[in-house]
Amino acid sequence: EATIHLSVRVARLGTRYLLLLADDRTEAHRLEEVRRDFIANISHELKTPIGAISLLAEALEPASDDPEQVRRFAKRLETEAVRLGRITREIIELSRLQAADVLTDAELVDVDHVVTSAIDQNHVQVDAKRMVIVGGGDRGAEVYGDEGLLILALHNLIANAVQYSPEGTRIGVGVRVHEGIVEIAVTDQGVGIPEEDLGRVFERFFRVDQARSRNTGGTGLGLSIVKHIVENHGGDIRVWSQIAHGSTFTIRLPEASHAAATPLGEQQ
Ligand code: ADP
Repeated sequence: EATIHLSVRVARLGTRYLLLLADDRTEAHRLEEVRRDFIANISHELKTPIGAISLLAEALEPASDDPEQVRRFAKRLETEAVRLGRITREIIELSRLQAADVLTDAELVDVDHVVTSAIDQNHVQVDAKRMVIVGGGDRGAEVYGDEGLLILALHNLIANAVQYSPEGTRIGVGVRVHEGIVEIAVTDQGVGIPEEDLGRVFERFFRVDQARSRNTGGTGLGLSIVKHIVENHGGDIRVWSQIAHGSTFTIRLPEASHAAATPLGEQQ
């Protein structure tokens, strides 16, 4: 009886081990798929501007008699080159963020400075669309982290708010400190995001409207970069949105004085 008992136990353990092994394989398989998708997407995204640049360069010589056409081609060449530069920069930024799960040299960061810098960086686009940015809320908040990356994250959110809102509308950037958490919310009065896409906007290369976003220079990487930065800081990001009314993206970070390095998920 003891032998039977023992072999049942061994069999059970064996099954559990096999299940664990299978689970590991599934995870490895999934990661491999994610990696392959990412590379396929990168090739696709790079091919578009590179193809356009080649065609325009070829068309330039035969058009040399027509200064107006040369001027138009040159302008489009510049646009495509700028886009190629942006995609390349964002892919490198994202790869760097994915490679390092935690920040190596975190320092005390002044949230007011992050907000002011990110707003300043968007001034030209804001003015061009006759929009207004209103900053407000709690002052003097501090978090631990990388100031440059935090400015980049907030910059991306504000740039999207400008990009996906009509002329003359308002953007709010509000800070709130509450129970050891610093919340930075960017609110716009823009086009909004369909409910079924809300869960996908942080995915790499995801765009609600592929064609429109690409034509306006969008790469579909901005929010993915924001999410990585925020998570590397032990925080999280949420989105609220209503079609034709607007969107609010809220970054939450642990306040420096409260919980130096405790990720939000592990706090009470
Ligand atoms: P993109 O470079 O296309 O802006 P993002 O990763 O920054 O890429 O955003 C992904 C998609 O989410 C965008 O293509 C857009 O459809 C949608 N989106 C992001 N921010 C906003 C916003 N403030 N209002 C409406 N839609 C937005």
